Amino acid sequence: MNPARHQGRELLPEPYRIKMVEPLRIIPPEARKKAVREAGYNTFLLRSRDIYIDLLTDSGTNAMSDAQWSAMMMGDEAYAGSQSYFRLVEAVQSIYGYRYVIPTHQGRGAEHILSRCLIRPGSIVPGNMYFTTTRLHQELAGGGFADVIVDEAYDPQCDDSFKGNIDLRKLENLTKKVSAPKIAYVAVGAPVNMAGGQPVSMENMRQVSAFCRKRGIPLVLDAARAVENAYFIQQREPGYGLKPVRDILREMCSLTDICTMSAKKDAFANIGGFLAMNDASLYEEAKNLCVVYEGLHTYGGLAGRDLEALAQGIRESVERDDWIAHRISQVQYLWRGLKDAGIPVVHPCGGHAVFVDAQAFLPHIPQKLLPAQTLAAAIYADSGVRSMERGIVSAGRDAATKQDHAPELELVRLTLPRRVYTQTHLDYVSRGVRRTFQRRDSLCGLKFVYEPKYLRFFQARFAPVPKAPSARRRGRPGPRAGRRARPRSGAGPRPSRRT
Ligand SMILES: *Cc1c(COP(=O)(O)O)cnc(C)c1O
Repeated sequence: MNPARHQGRELLPEPYRIKMVEPLRIIPPEARKKAVREAGYNTFLLRSRDIYIDLLTDSGTNAMSDAQWSAMMMGDEAYAGSQSYFRLVEAVQSIYGYRYVIPTHQGRGAEHILSRCLIRPGSIVPGNMYFTTTRLHQELAGGGFADVIVDEAYDPQCDDSFKGNIDLRKLENLTKKVSAPKIAYVAVGAPVNMAGGQPVSMENMRQVSAFCRKRGIPLVLDAARAVENAYFIQQREPGYGLKPVRDILREMCSLTDICTMSAKKDAFANIGGFLAMNDASLYEEAKNLCVVYEGLHTYGGLAGRDLEALAQGIRESVERDDWIAHRISQVQYLWRGLKDAGIPVVHPCGGHAVFVDAQAFLPHIPQKLLPAQTLAAAIYADSGVRSMERGIVSAGRDAATKQDHAPELELVRLTLPRRVYTQTHLDYVSRGVRRTFQRRDSLCGLKFVYEPKYLRFFQARFAPVPKAPSARRRGRPGPRAGRRARPRSGAGPRPSRRT
């Protein structure tokens, strides 16, 4: 495809056709209300059969190609030294360019091993905005995350092209405050999931790379959606307009030393990931830990057929630019559909999802009453569309003080799986969110009734906090609000402290 700039005005035609279908159904409004109530107002706890359009995540929910399905038949299920492992290693080496590759069951498997290898108690890990699983593994290894993303990332209305960039001054100030050996590594997510899928420029990566190399600090790329980032560089950064995404991706990786990968995103796989690096001694240590936590280093918790699907998916992701161009065009189409209806969305449109600004959508619900969680539950009830909270619930509590992190971005994420939904589906989603927008004043907030200790957003349960007319403007819960709500599952659920 000619990588001419695509303005996102119209949807590009699909570079594929449908070969197999999976029936969908939409359950009636009353049944949806019941389902979301029974799920404790957490969209993660809904049953898939009750969902019409599932935009919870693009992780492992992609449609594989015929080439991937046929590669799976070639899966070599040998416990050790499987041919499928070598095919995966070759794919990673040729596309991403790192020397050593360890398969893992998914991205957090790679994060876990890397954190154990490089983080010591008291270590600091600077990065461009936190990611949920990444930060948790850093903390469990005794380290602390330090956010060094540019300030623009926190402004949902700012239209800058590269809002995922690392702020070099913040990074430099941090290294002045703490001694260089305390910095375990610098983590660059490209693009930045929690900021709305905002990309990092090559120029910024070059500067960060030079900064780290000068000081001997390893630079780690979170490559889950690096192909999307490479596409944004092609579309937005001077000098890259005629380069294939494949070459841009390779250049990004060459500026870093290590990569953690969730292959459930860019690589179209339903499961899988890897940890890759150039340093031989780190490889030795990581390979050894892999046996402890994932499985032998030639399968890393995956079946041989998964390794095959992943290897083929990696090659496919950059084989032609029209895969990624179409994907981003779908996201932009949905983004425009919502924006044109006056719905507050994060600017500019990111790579994998449309992020709705829940604070602007529901200004009458204060952050402590969980506006994004409330909105995600309401969108499901109104239209059978499943989305995800990316706000104060996802942000969790501070590891030391146990206080809620109160993130500046309080968002609902509508995430598009790759090669799964059609334009008509996207139009349906736009109409559904518009319906919720029309009745936004009727929504009230939520409070925790069960809060798990780790990554609480996945399994927490909530109850509505009815509006108390007199206290409404300050968003205070009504007296005894939600008292009857009870967690339905699990032994000994712990009620939250204050939310
Ligand atoms: C999904 C994701 C991860 C974690 O990967 P899993 O495969 O879900 O374990 C890490 N970083 C980013 C940016 C992600 O989107």
